[in-house]
Amino acid sequence: MYNILLIEDDIVDQFAIKRAVEQDPEYSYTMASSLKDARKILRAQQFDAIITDYALGDGTAQEILNSKIDTPLIITTGAGDEEIAVKAMKAGAYDYLVKDGDRNYLKILPITIENAIQYKKAKENEDWLRLVESALLNAYGAVIITETDPEKPVAPKAIYANEAYTKLTGFKGNEVKGKPFPFLKGVQNNTEIAKIKQAVKNEKSVTTEIKGLHKNGSIYWAELTLVPVLNREGKHSHWLYIMHDITAHKLSEELLRQSKERLDIILHSIGDGVVVINENQQIMRINYKAKELLGVTQTQVINNKFLDTLKHCRESRDDILQILNRRFFANYELHLKKPQNRILYLTGNTFSDIHGKSSGKVIIIRDVTKEKEIAQMKNDFVSNVSHELRTPLASIIGFSSTIRNDKNMPREIQEEFLTIIYDESQRLSHLIEDILNLSRIESGQIKSKREDIDIGAIIKEVYEGYKIQAEKKGLELSYQIEENLPTLYADVNEIKQILINLVGNAIKFTDNGGVFISLIKENAFLILKVQDTGIGIPQSDFDLIFEKFHRVERVGRQIEGTGLGLSIVKEIVNLYNGTIKIESEENNGTCFKISFPIS
Ligand code: ADP
Repeated sequence: MYNILLIEDDIVDQFAIKRAVEQDPEYSYTMASSLKDARKILRAQQFDAIITDYALGDGTAQEILNSKIDTPLIITTGAGDEEIAVKAMKAGAYDYLVKDGDRNYLKILPITIENAIQYKKAKENEDWLRLVESALLNAYGAVIITETDPEKPVAPKAIYANEAYTKLTGFKGNEVKGKPFPFLKGVQNNTEIAKIKQAVKNEKSVTTEIKGLHKNGSIYWAELTLVPVLNREGKHSHWLYIMHDITAHKLSEELLRQSKERLDIILHSIGDGVVVINENQQIMRINYKAKELLGVTQTQVINNKFLDTLKHCRESRDDILQILNRRFFANYELHLKKPQNRILYLTGNTFSDIHGKSSGKVIIIRDVTKEKEIAQMKNDFVSNVSHELRTPLASIIGFSSTIRNDKNMPREIQEEFLTIIYDESQRLSHLIEDILNLSRIESGQIKSKREDIDIGAIIKEVYEGYKIQAEKKGLELSYQIEENLPTLYADVNEIKQILINLVGNAIKFTDNGGVFISLIKENAFLILKVQDTGIGIPQSDFDLIFEKFHRVERVGRQIEGTGLGLSIVKEIVNLYNGTIKIESEENNGTCFKISFPIS
């Protein structure tokens, strides 16, 4: 409903104008019959249009024009007063109508009123826009205003962009004008584009993030809010697009992501286990090595308590908890039983939050199983060596001092004692020789002199060396070598050492029957076998006999030896990436089978 004020003192005209206005039910009118009346009404009420006679009983419409009210004024004048009308127009009247004798002006009146109202609306909108624009000009956020075209409401065109927008995107207001979604230029994220267009279609406000392209080609990030704007009649007429530059934030987010990624790479590639726990001791991060050492998977442990991953260990839960509660601990020794026996060193350090309060720990897990084993082996070795050396030495010292102290000792007893001293010295010498050999191989001190060698020839040489010894024991020593075998790239002395030790043992532990050496090729391997018909090895000793100083307990039988021969064999076989296997049954012979890969 539009309110119209009619100012007319002529009763006939009043009546005629009233009728013309009443034709449109959208209009409601108020009648003033004098300037004084009009002044009073205007003080109390706002109108969308005023139709006023120029010359009134108590003055002219000029007075209303002078009062500079916003309402459009349509002046009516008598015929012949056109000059006055022109003057009124100059003073700001919206239009004028000349009251002709035939009252034709009444026909144009409704159109004139409608135009005046439209004009007022447009002017109001313009004023409002100008107000908004000036308010937004220096606003912190980038703003675009678009005007909704009723013909094409899905693509409202930009009519304004403020300076912050120019700063953000590089485009000036006049470059943006007339374009529907100027900020979408260069945006590649289709879901964001769809979201924005959908919001415009539904006339709903939306906030989203866009990755835009600055005029200079650089990328900017903005948080974009679309707000539909209603005009005075409550109709959707414009959109405000408000953009906040979040490029710096996005960049630091990206930097953070990158440094996280880098940290992950470092975490996963270091050889020690790393676990990060929060103040509740829940696992936040865990690297591959830690998962492997603890025998857990990512999903099993993330957000679970670190303590729960240590269920299978020798130490009690309380003990571990006490350690974990410390701000710092170093090399706490943990004996894990599952997934396998392991000795781990745990070192933990607390990190703090911005208030200096403990917010978690980084725990480094080092697998020291091997080191501990080696240390143990060294200790065992030293005590074994001293023990093994002491026995023959004690005999040598004992028997030699007896001979020295007993000047009258009969010649045969002296001979017997001297033989014992000689044998024990031999044993000592063998032992020292074996120990030296083993330590040389293990330390890698002696460089093998490798060349293409014929193992068959070495077998024959060793055979010749042991032939007499075997014959003396009544044993048959024989060999079989496949024809046209390839050579092996190896050190002659190392291969010979293997054969000497294996054939020597076979003869030593065989009383009846014989010893058989064979060499064949199987696929890409040379297979060397030393078989005997001797006393055999109990299965429980299969793994142990390769350990230093291990000797099978033989009830009621004392057979000479150092317990190092097979350790040396094994070490040499390892040098060639070969394998050694035993087949044996007690009292039913033994077979050592070595496979050498032919490189
Ligand atoms: P040793 O110097 O005692 O022979 P080795 O390391 O060569 O030391 O052998 C370890 C142990 O393995 C021996 O003491 C012996 O009991 C057993 N053994 C080795 N070879 C044979 C074999 N051919 N038959 C029976 N037992 C053997």
